[in-house]
Amino acid sequence: MAEYFDAIVVGCGAMGSAACMHLAQRGAKVLGLEQFDIPHALGSSHGYSRMIRLAYYEHPDYVPLLRRAYQLWDELEKSSGQKLLYLTGGIYMGPREGEVVSGALKAARMHGLEHELMDRAEITRRFPQFSLPRDFVGVWEQQAGFLLPEKVISVHCEQALRAGAQMHGREKVMDWREGWVKTDKGEYRAKRIIFCGGAWSGKLLSELGVELIVTRQPLGWVWPRRPELFELGKMPVWGIEAPDGSLSYGFPMMADNPGLKIARHGRGIVTDADEISRQATEADEKEIQAVVERHLPEGRGPTLAIRICMYTNSPDAHFVIDQLPGHSNVIIACGFSGHGFKFASVIGEVLADLAMEGKTELPVGFLGLNRFK
Ligand SMILES: Cc1cc2nc3c(=O)[nH]c(=O)nc-3n(C[C@H](O)[C@H](O)[C@H](O)COP(=O)(O)OP(=O)(O)OC[C@H]3O[C@@H](n4cnc5c(N)ncnc54)[C@H](O)[C@@H]3O)c2cc1C
Repeated sequence: MAEYFDAIVVGCGAMGSAACMHLAQRGAKVLGLEQFDIPHALGSSHGYSRMIRLAYYEHPDYVPLLRRAYQLWDELEKSSGQKLLYLTGGIYMGPREGEVVSGALKAARMHGLEHELMDRAEITRRFPQFSLPRDFVGVWEQQAGFLLPEKVISVHCEQALRAGAQMHGREKVMDWREGWVKTDKGEYRAKRIIFCGGAWSGKLLSELGVELIVTRQPLGWVWPRRPELFELGKMPVWGIEAPDGSLSYGFPMMADNPGLKIARHGRGIVTDADEISRQATEADEKEIQAVVERHLPEGRGPTLAIRICMYTNSPDAHFVIDQLPGHSNVIIACGFSGHGFKFASVIGEVLADLAMEGKTELPVGFLGLNRFK
């Protein structure tokens, strides 16, 4: 007879591991199923750092969720005794009327967030690392920084296990119906199923009714010609709007992983989660080096590493958190569109609320499937 759980969580990456922890800590009998290792570098949550910021240019409605996410990151650090979040301050630069600067200002003003608007002269005085076009300005906020993604997933899983969850790595979900899940190792039954399948969500959820487009996203590390300018403590997290509307961004250097990390937030090449090429190409390296060339003159130097990650893009680049249509006991969290990690702590809480109470007080209504009708 298949073992029965209060909740089965499919996918133990950023969101699934957080959901397992919150569910187990509330006393639910929970099973987390992960097709690869926990954690792993084949999905959307590897690469040593993920930015967190509060003046959210993507949409001001995310700010209340972010406030709760920050509280939960703090609680997780305290309960685990692990350093997971570095607050470095953050600066978001671009033309005054561009999406990044105007969006960050809108969110900051609407929610009374501490921030500072700087002109180009002030930015380059405070942060001589950057070279910017003449008309660029920047929004500075002290509250920004970065999380350590692999460590966060490990800690969420460990806390889930210690609270009594079963977590199975290397076990792939092959089929499911409401209340029943079949893997390559066995069968299980559950009151609720929560799908956190990242780039595999489209394959797992044929009834979603919304197209999720998976893209291939390179991350790069270079060794800067003046490393002392880019160290933790001197360099904030940063983003610069590019003419095509994408965002070049990066992090300070970190002791346990050499080099200066740089990436581009914008849709990469469309791919498939099972067929993606994780081999870095000349074009990937050119893309990374072009950002350094354009904006970080003292950061120029040889490439150290390139890693390939995936975005799961929803049609409007906002998350999808809801019940699966036609299934009252199936909850979905997907389509994080390349900006979800900073929310993992609060998404875990939301998913536990939805699974245990059937509702949540947290403001996620704007992320429901209704908006696509
Ligand atoms: C290059 C890059 C940079 C990013 N930078 C930032 C940033 O700076 N700040 C930020 O907030 N966000 C950032 N993001 C986005 C963020 O990392 C993602 O939104 C988030 O990690 C997605 O989490 P997830 O749980 O949906 O996916 P994942 O963490 O990938 O988890 C999904 C899991 O489901 C598992 N799974 C799928 N199918 C099955 C199955 N059939 N059976 C069992 N398990 C299954 C997968 O193996 C995987 O482990 C970035 C993303 C990328 C790719």
